[in-house]
Amino acid sequence: MTGLIKAQKQVEEYDKKYGWDNDRASHIVLHLTEELGEISRELLRHECYKNEEFSEKELAKEIIDLLYLTLKLANKFDINLEEEWGIMWERYDKKSNRK
Ligand SMILES: [Mg+2]
Repeated sequence: MTGLIKAQKQVEEYDKKYGWDNDRASHIVLHLTEELGEISRELLRHECYKNEEFSEKELAKEIIDLLYLTLKLANKFDINLEEEWGIMWERYDKKSNRK
């Protein structure tokens, strides 16, 4: 149990409440790329890019925005991320045994 299913449910209920459950998958992905851009910007700040101030709190906020949209995208296709999480680890374990 990872809590992913609970988080997916939370996103589902929130989106339904505001009518955002009808958002197109392509729009969700577009917003995902926006959030990824915001994460990139924070990382550039961390590396002293243009002397902009880095904030770990802001980085955390952008990462969680990205997660929210990831859960939303999975919901769109009725993908159970809890199940997929387990499958992914089986796949990764096989990969690391290949050495
Ligand atoms: Mg954001």
